[in-house]
Amino acid sequence: MNQENKNLVTNYSSAKYSWLKSGGEISQLYKIHNEVDLINLFSINDVKLKSLLVIGNLSNTLIKDDGYKGIAIKLLGDFTNIQINHDHLLVGAAVLDNYLSKFCYQNSISGYEFLYTIPGSIGGNIFMNAGCFNQEIKDKLISVIYFDINDNKVYEKNISELQFYYRKGFQKHNTIILYGKFKVSHADQKDIKRLMQEYEVIRNQTQPQKVNCCGSIFKNPKNQSAWKLIKSSVDESFYNGPIKLSKIHSNFFENEPNISANSIDLFISKIQKRVKDKHKVILEKELRIIDC
Ligand SMILES: Cc1cc2nc3c(=O)[nH]c(=O)nc-3n(C[C@H](O)[C@H](O)[C@H](O)COP(=O)(O)OP(=O)(O)OC[C@H]3O[C@@H](n4cnc5c(N)ncnc54)[C@H](O)[C@@H]3O)c2cc1C
Repeated sequence: MNQENKNLVTNYSSAKYSWLKSGGEISQLYKIHNEVDLINLFSINDVKLKSLLVIGNLSNTLIKDDGYKGIAIKLLGDFTNIQINHDHLLVGAAVLDNYLSKFCYQNSISGYEFLYTIPGSIGGNIFMNAGCFNQEIKDKLISVIYFDINDNKVYEKNISELQFYYRKGFQKHNTIILYGKFKVSHADQKDIKRLMQEYEVIRNQTQPQKVNCCGSIFKNPKNQSAWKLIKSSVDESFYNGPIKLSKIHSNFFENEPNISANSIDLFISKIQKRVKDKHKVILEKELRIIDC
């Protein structure tokens, strides 16, 4: 069995692993443990020519019912490590936010408390420029280390050379984020823990818990709250049924498991239409919806 086949999973169920518990199958998913795996995979011309999807923790992704037919990548192995260096943290893209936050607490490193409550991975965070409690991943980043499939090479770009916006981070076509280099500053463990707990309490009070959801459905338009626009545009029927808006936060929906991804997409379009009709505002999706 060659390297390529050993790492290949066919018909990977996104519904099984995604936070929405919904979504079509990924026909070819390659598990990548290190840079050698990557270079080997993308030296095959056939693979290079197909469309690329990298999956992180699937907390912000919905794959439509027909599934994904290109090449999907899931980082593991070397990319799940965190290394402390004297002036930075080297964090693998597959490291989960909550894990990094706890790691930083254990090592008296401050600034990563906000990640305690985000269910994504560092790769997903850097792609999305994830954030909460007035902090974004870009504020902590020194540089992004990524693989470019066209050149079959690894590059490093300093944050000063990159443009990150609200919920739009490093989204260079045909690249895979491998690591982030992050700033280090120290604080008292007690203060770090207090902040993590504070954020958790706020999150529990203001957002639905223990339900299938994707976090915010839409980005907030400039100087407006998506939840307010939604709440004032939809009727009670949007708060009932197998896919329904959350009564705690109208920019969140909850869905029953294994519900069709296309019906979720349709539900989102209906909300968009209601808001457009009422307020003449086009809400932009934060959730990544993947077609074929
Ligand atoms: C309950 C809940 C609460 C949430 N709260 C917040 C919040 O407060 N703030 C916030 O910003 N988000 C929030 N989110 C959304 C989500 O957690 C973030 O967007 C997170 O950054 C996504 O990470 P992920 O690993 O799950 O990415 P995925 O959903 O797997 O992927 C998201 C996108 O990133 C790309 N991607 C992932 N990894 C890589 C990589 N290594 N290289 C290249 N591209 C990659 C994918 O292709 C996809 O386009 C929440 C989600 C949920 C379910």
